[in-house]
Amino acid sequence: IDMTVQHDMEKLNETFAQFRDNYRLIKRIGEGTFSTVYKAEDVRYERFNNSWDLDAKDSQWTPPPLKPVSHSQSNSRSNPPRRQRKFVAIKKIYVTSSPSRILNELELLHDLKDSPSVCPLITAFRQSDQVLAILPYFRHQDFRKYYPNMTVPDIKIYFRSLFTALAAVHDKGILHRDIKPTNFLYDPDKQRGVLVDFGLAEREGIDHKPCLCHLDSEARKQRIRASYAVNASNTGPQAGYPKNDTRPSRRANRAGTRGFRAPEVLFKCTEQTTKIDIWSAGVILLTILCKRFPFFNSADDIEAMIEIATIFGSRRMRAAGQLHGCVFETNIPTIGGSGFSFEKIMLWSTCRTDGGNEKARFLTDEEKAAVEFLQRCMELDPSRRISAEEALRHDFLRVDDD
Ligand code: ADP
Ligand code: MG
Repeated sequence: IDMTVQHDMEKLNETFAQFRDNYRLIKRIGEGTFSTVYKAEDVRYERFNNSWDLDAKDSQWTPPPLKPVSHSQSNSRSNPPRRQRKFVAIKKIYVTSSPSRILNELELLHDLKDSPSVCPLITAFRQSDQVLAILPYFRHQDFRKYYPNMTVPDIKIYFRSLFTALAAVHDKGILHRDIKPTNFLYDPDKQRGVLVDFGLAEREGIDHKPCLCHLDSEARKQRIRASYAVNASNTGPQAGYPKNDTRPSRRANRAGTRGFRAPEVLFKCTEQTTKIDIWSAGVILLTILCKRFPFFNSADDIEAMIEIATIFGSRRMRAAGQLHGCVFETNIPTIGGSGFSFEKIMLWSTCRTDGGNEKARFLTDEEKAAVEFLQRCMELDPSRRISAEEALRHDFLRVDDD
């Protein structure tokens, strides 16, 4: 154990009275913008007679009550009857995170406690401004290690697991907002994954200003025409980028991770839906199929739009912007009018377009099926993008009984 972890452990032991008797910190496993996560051994488990079984069925799993420990009980630790160790992940949420934000994460986790493929919350502690969330420890591998070797059948199993979690989360009207490999803990040996990190999650439809994308196309056209007329009478026609832009700036939730943001997030849609998570899942699929991680590598939202426009082409990108009342214009020469197919991008990025093997220059049937599913996840128009529920019924993910 390194010195910092030692120091953290002592701090936690000092701050939380029950801590020393309940958990034994082992190591630090994650450090992010909003939290530090530790692996710890749950020593309560021994006292409760090895009675809780997490592996049997995550969704049915109920944790034992947290009771104060009597001295005689803690003595039995040195001499346990049947020793089977249970581990937890302890998420220490930084005090710089706002109280309402911390409460939001814990509340949503509580709502999702019976959801399949979602990591359940065991309990939480607070001591003044310090908050700890206790989750069952889920053994997983680093995405970078397993994604280059995934076959199409492996990919199906991975996405069945991820979309099972998303269907459950979306069914509760919750947007995760930060779908990416480090928030979906996957164990390739057990072929199971759990969704974690609801730090940016929110309920759908709360505090939303209406966006044009929720109108039908005729009503949207009328509204756009009306706003052009107002702008023209105020300032006259403008060519190029307006220097003195008098329009009110648009505000929308942009929380998430660069490279995984859906186009409607980049276009500052004010009525974002659970479909933003589907796009991010699509980016994971694109990454695995193209064997490039990170696939998108933009520094900001404008660069992110350029990357997406390079694939989809300026015509479809312009239509995507219009849905949300945005005008997409570009004179970047590498952005063509009609973009490229995912099939081509996959062949290019895996270097299968040239070289000796003639057969490798074409996708196999199962790869074509994967690309077809990818297209459904990465629809620019969120209303046409597949839902998690539909995805589970899609040919690519569906489990055939026979
Ligand atoms: P953050 O908000 O800091 O990103 P996360 O909840 O995503 O916090 O956790 C950060 C990292 O800690 C994860 O990417 C994962 O490696 C590890 N982790 C989180 N929860 C668990 C868990 N239940 N089991 C195992 N590892 C976990
Ligand atoms: Mg995270």
